[in-house]
Amino acid sequence: MKTAILYLAGEKHCPLTIPFTAAEDGTDAVNWVLDRPDFLEQAACRYGAERPDLLVLEDGGEARGLAVGLARRLGGSCLFQVRELWREESGLLARRGAYNSNLQAVYRLRTPAVVTVAGRGAPGTETLENAAGILAAGRGIGGKQNFQRLAACAAALGAQAGATRPAVMNTWAEMERLIGQSGHQVSPRWMVTVGASGSGPFLAGVRAERLAAVDNDPNAMIFWNADLGIQADAGAFLDALEKELSGT
Ligand SMILES: Cc1cc2nc3c(=O)[nH]c(=O)nc-3n(C[C@H](O)[C@H](O)[C@H](O)COP(=O)(O)OP(=O)(O)OC[C@H]3O[C@@H](n4cnc5c(N)ncnc54)[C@H](O)[C@@H]3O)c2cc1C
Repeated sequence: MKTAILYLAGEKHCPLTIPFTAAEDGTDAVNWVLDRPDFLEQAACRYGAERPDLLVLEDGGEARGLAVGLARRLGGSCLFQVRELWREESGLLARRGAYNSNLQAVYRLRTPAVVTVAGRGAPGTETLENAAGILAAGRGIGGKQNFQRLAACAAALGAQAGATRPAVMNTWAEMERLIGQSGHQVSPRWMVTVGASGSGPFLAGVRAERLAAVDNDPNAMIFWNADLGIQADAGAFLDALEKELSGT
């Protein structure tokens, strides 16, 4: 699919990852860097020359304004905070959270489509939603102290700490750490879960490029979804990770 990624000059951006289901769909994506102040005119002009089917921006106030204006000008669809994109015979489809992310909605987009996706943010402004790396704790982490150890390891790795619902409901982790259908939708480059079984509601919020799972049960469901499975006790895994990070 012919795709253009639009960057607004003057803002600090990390390269955007387009959430295509099929990895090869993003291989011919081209970058457009637009200068101030006439983003819309420049984008429309480049569209006329290159005619991509899909135009992608990092989600944000200014980007949303541009996305709406551009989609209107080009006669295509506009959708914010897209989590996943794929093609079917009927056309280009996109998934995003709806009703405060309590539901996942699928949209059929008219091309050229202009969409925004979560970015990585400028250094120091990472949240769970735009984090490049996440360590996530489930019930198997066993308690608040271990969650705090996991959060410290995440910080040392420049990553964010997340949690499943039991970890939050037990007050081991703050509510804002919740990942899943009723929490944050995350799409990091890498994610490691520790003591999370891989339930449907949790995984509904996870779209990691690489997922590793630590669980002491060899039959844990999460191993079916993970790229790497580590059968280990959560505490022992934390001991090893802390040792590795401290360099001793
Ligand atoms: C409407 C609805 C919405 C929901 N929304 C969410 C949501 O947004 N997010 C969410 O997370 N859940 C959500 N849930 C809850 C969800 O169904 C699961 O109950 C929950 O995700 C399970 O969390 P868990 O994996 O931490 O716990 P469990 O399923 O209990 O898994 C614990 C895992 O830890 C392992 N373990 C135990 N001890 C150790 C140890 N010492 N070392 C290593 N591993 C160990 C076990 O083998 C197991 O695999 C929702 C449920 C409903 C009904």
